[in-house]
Order: sequence, then C-alpha cells, then structure tokens
Amino acid sequence: MLRRCCVVVMLALVLAAAGRSWGARQPAPKIEILQPQTGQALGGLVDVRLKLPAQLSGPVYVGLGGPPWARLERVPDASEGRVLLDSRMVPNGPQKLIVKTPNKRADAAVDVTVGNPLQVYFSDLHSHTGYSDGVLLPSVAHDYARNVSRLDVFTLTDHLEYVDDTEWLDIREAAWDASEDGKFVSIPGLEWTKKIGHINMFDPPTNRWPADLAGFYQAAADAGVVCKFNHPGDGTKVLEGLAYSEVGDRAVELMEVRRASEEQAYLLALKLGWHLAPDGSDDTHGPTWGSRFAWSGILAPGLSKRNILDALKKRHCYSTLDRDCILRFKVNGAVMGDIIAEPTQTVEAVVTVRDPNPGDTIDKIELFEDGTVVQTDEPKAVGRRWTVRRTPQAGRHYYFVKITQADGNLLWSAPVWLTVKEK
Ligand SMILES: [Zn+2]
Ligand SMILES: [Zn+2]
Repeated sequence: MLRRCCVVVMLALVLAAAGRSWGARQPAPKIEILQPQTGQALGGLVDVRLKLPAQLSGPVYVGLGGPPWARLERVPDASEGRVLLDSRMVPNGPQKLIVKTPNKRADAAVDVTVGNPLQVYFSDLHSHTGYSDGVLLPSVAHDYARNVSRLDVFTLTDHLEYVDDTEWLDIREAAWDASEDGKFVSIPGLEWTKKIGHINMFDPPTNRWPADLAGFYQAAADAGVVCKFNHPGDGTKVLEGLAYSEVGDRAVELMEVRRASEEQAYLLALKLGWHLAPDGSDDTHGPTWGSRFAWSGILAPGLSKRNILDALKKRHCYSTLDRDCILRFKVNGAVMGDIIAEPTQTVEAVVTVRDPNPGDTIDKIELFEDGTVVQTDEPKAVGRRWTVRRTPQAGRHYYFVKITQADGNLLWSAPVWLTVKEK
C-alpha cells in the first residue's frame, strides 16, 4: 500500500514538472506600451497607457527606472490600462519607463527622457541624538525636523563609533518611517569621527568603515556613498590639511561652509582640486533639529529620496544662513555643482537670488573665479537676476557666488567647473 502511494506521488510530481515546462514554452503575454513612445521627452504628470493581454490578470505597476511605482488602473470593458505617473519624482535625464506585471516575462520597458525644472528644498544634513552625544531618539528628532522646523530634507548623523547595530537599525527605520515622497525626505546617515577629522555619510549601506582616511575614501568611493567634510575650521588642521585624494573626490561631494573660517577651508579645498558643494548644517546636539542657524538649499525636480540622493551626488546645493532665500546659479546653462565636460570659449554666469521676506534685502553678490572675487553687484533689493560674462585664459576654471544680506546672513553657491580652450 505504502509503495503504491509512493508511485502515485512520484507520478504526480513528474506530471507537475512536465506541466511547468509546457507552460514555460508558451509565449509570454505581450504588453504594448501605447504611451509614452520610445525617445519621448517627459515632464510633469505623464499619462501612461498600456494595452494588456486578456490572459494577464492582477496588478500592474509603472515606474521611471524604479520607485516610486504607480499602480495601473484598468479601463472598464477594455484591454487598456492607464495611470498618471509623476515624472518630477525621478532625476532628470535618460530613464526607462518600466512596466512590472504578475508574470515577469510579460514585463516591458521603453526608453524616455525626463526633464523638469529644479525646485529648492531646505535641509539639515548633520545632526545628533542620544544614540551618540546628542539628546533623545531618532523618532523624536524626525518629528521635530518635519513638523516643527518644517524642513524638506533631514539627515541624522550620529557618531559612527557610538552607534551599535540595534541603534543603526532604528536610525534607518526612523528615517524611512518619517519619509513621504512629495512632503518630507529623510536620509539615514552616520558621522565618521576620527582625530584626523569628521566626515558625514549619506545612506551608507553599512556601519562598518575603515578607521584610516585613505581606507575610508576607498571604501566610500567603492560603495558609491555620498560624503561631506564636517566643521573643517580653516582647513589646515583637518584631514591632512584637506590633502587632495582622487579616490576621495569620487565620494566626498560637500563641505560645511557657514562662516569666514570655513570659507577659507572651502577656498583651500577647491584650490587643491576637490569638487565640493558648500553645505549649511547645524550639527545640533540639542533638541532643536533643523532650526538653529544654517541650512542647505538642495536643487531637485521634486521631493523624493531618489532625487535628493541624486542631487547631493551632483552637488546641486548651496549653503545658506537664511532659512528661505532662493539662490540659483548657472554657468553656460550648467547648474551649480556641475562639471562642464565640453571645452568652451566663452563664460556666461547667471545669478538669480530672491528672498521671500520683504525686509530681507540682498546687499552684495560676489562672483568668484578660481577662488578670487572678480566682480561684485550691490542689488539693495530682495531679488536680483545678474548676468556676468568673463573671458578667462585657456585652461581650467571654476565659478561660484557668495551672497551677503543686509542682516549679515551669508549664502554660498556650489561652483561650476569648466575648461576654456585655446583661442
Ligand atoms: Zn563632528
Ligand atoms: Zn556632528
């Protein structure tokens, strides 16, 4: 009896396996992407339309190269589905519009290009809780940063050396829990804290990092983690005098610049060859996350984790001691933080600065060329658009602006780097 049972079970298994392989030979149900078309330029809300095969049931999702995913709605009594996809939630540039279905072999994709205007999001990228030498807990810090300070972007960066594995898990969970695309983005972080200097990491994949500087640069570059030099003083006493590292330059994209001494460090770093954006973060150790004295304006097409991480990687940000002053700076059409690859003959810098508060006058705009002020404008107004043309000698150059408000508040843009070719 037992033997007969075994034979029956084995026969059933063989038949089941055969059934699976027959199924595998059937052609995959084919999805047709009706809209958008290959190579199409997308912006704002995108009307995605698909033709769905009858044999495909279950949910279908659409995304631009990844999250956020939008669920397709089926048109009643038709084989079509459609959804409005917000292209502002993903970085500008080439993207794949991806269709995910319950049958992996039916998944489809089409190449498109996304282009949306950049908005400014105010952020604090350096702060602590009681998990290192600050106070209270990550969930409390996030609640404060989002609802009291009303930040757009927040990053907790407790000292790596204090944080145990359980706390690191909680730091990440608190960040993901508090994040809501379109409203508030939190990126989990850690502060590499050594005698030689302090460096923030954004969204690091691990809390285990080499203790030596060269090893750290290499590990961060390999992991593709965006880093920031913290409180550099005048730059001469930290991180081996900010000695240039080609490997480090691949990972470190920002430096805290909030006062005159740090401006000196910034000028030194740029002169040594680093490609860095200035950052204004509070480094708070108290319970006032994101509302002390300095912020970063991050330029991104929309408020999503993907966009913010991408903007930090591209150095699309400025440091500001004013909570809501909007600063834009372009050179030859490139956004602050960009490195223009194609050599150029002419240099045209455009500064747009506007403070929404009627009393917050812009006193002075200084244009820096290779670390020296070469032109100054004195708007004595809350807003100004200023265009400057330069004709530097052949070779490599970089440009950024510093803004001084009547109340003494300062702003620094990220530079644009370029090469001027021989005449
Ligand atoms: Zn520090
Ligand atoms: Zn710190």
